[in-house]
Amino acid sequence: MRRPCAVVFNYAGRHRYGLNVLMGALESVPQVASDLFVAWEFDELTQHISDALGGYDKVLVLWSFYSPEFWEACNSLSKVKESGSALDDPRIVHLCGGVHATGDPQRTLRAGFDRISVGEGERRIVEIATKLSNGDDIRTLALGRLDDGKYISAGFTEPIDLNSYPPFAPAHKRFNPIEITRGCIYACRFCQTPFMFKASHFRHRSVEEICRYAQMMKQEGKRDIRFITPNALSYGSNDKSVNMDEIERLLREVRLAIGPDAGLFFGTFPSEFRPEHVTPRVLRIMKRYVTNDNVIIGAQSGSERMLAESHRGHSLAPIFQAVRYCLDEGFVPKVDLIFGLPGEHEDELEASVLLAERLIRQKAEVNAHTFMPLPGTPWRNAEPGKLPPRIVNELDVLAKSGRLRGDWKQQIAIAADLHARSKSAISEAKSR
Ligand code: SF4
Repeated sequence: MRRPCAVVFNYAGRHRYGLNVLMGALESVPQVASDLFVAWEFDELTQHISDALGGYDKVLVLWSFYSPEFWEACNSLSKVKESGSALDDPRIVHLCGGVHATGDPQRTLRAGFDRISVGEGERRIVEIATKLSNGDDIRTLALGRLDDGKYISAGFTEPIDLNSYPPFAPAHKRFNPIEITRGCIYACRFCQTPFMFKASHFRHRSVEEICRYAQMMKQEGKRDIRFITPNALSYGSNDKSVNMDEIERLLREVRLAIGPDAGLFFGTFPSEFRPEHVTPRVLRIMKRYVTNDNVIIGAQSGSERMLAESHRGHSLAPIFQAVRYCLDEGFVPKVDLIFGLPGEHEDELEASVLLAERLIRQKAEVNAHTFMPLPGTPWRNAEPGKLPPRIVNELDVLAKSGRLRGDWKQQIAIAADLHARSKSAISEAKSR
């Protein structure tokens, strides 16, 4: 007997945590929980879609990717549609969500995706999958679409309560770092996070829920517990202050939940600290519970003017102080710097190089990035980061020390490519 709706997750890209979260949300929906399929590669994607057409009335294909992967995803989508007449079947709906679709919904739709979901996905995917499996027509569902070339928005999804949804997909054993906080009260002009979640406040998962999921991971043989958060030291806080009591409670309870042998990582990949939050006290508390011997500090620039232009909300002084505190307390500070910010002059780039040199002399490390104008951010239309040869040479020299790392060189090319393609897509759209 045919089933109403299959959901195929396209895991071929890098944005897998977001898909895990959607899968976790769907695991609790009885109508579709047994109809979820994972495609790791392109061939598997086309295979799953073809197979599903044989046994289901509708096939919902989920896509989510970061902006640098947009064109690659567009190529994959075209290839899917061209790889056989069956794969251009109107029963197949390619639904795209995540940071890129949220930041640039129109261009995502014009690239060929059938529908988009803007904002947080958990609540909406449950609603959509439930309705499709009840026989509703896709055209009646609240999703962004094109109608005769005109963009019809379905609006942003309402922010969810993190405690109401799992941070991964336990039934499918798809685990990832636990998201402990969502949303950001800061609004750095290069960053998609605050604009993706359209919420000017932090929402935290409770310590009890975090412990529950940490224990679950441990029982499944995962040795390390890591956290996803815009600023690790904002956990438990509603504003710019640090809630030391709640941070200590989090670390203490998670450590108790997972036992002394498991890894507990806080303030390091995939999260970081804002520099002004770092104090000797918080680092001493961390030492009682965490496994990591390094922390990531978001500094972003060695120029006071560029810090102000970026709306970072801190000056250089807290960066120097945070690095000093980390070194004194035995943590290696890994400092993020972005080169080529909009309007950055050569002497300001040089200031960041000097900061990197100083950090390396102090035995800190530097994660170097090149600015990319990301959709949805205030700097989305800015020029991509370009580095004069002198700066490239200086960074190359620092990289030889082994203490400056990062994808800054590849990002010069990626940012230029994205920008060129975006410009040509815009002029193409205008000429239509
Ligand atoms: S860079 Fe960090 S602090 Fe700034 S907006 Fe993004 S998440 Fe918030």
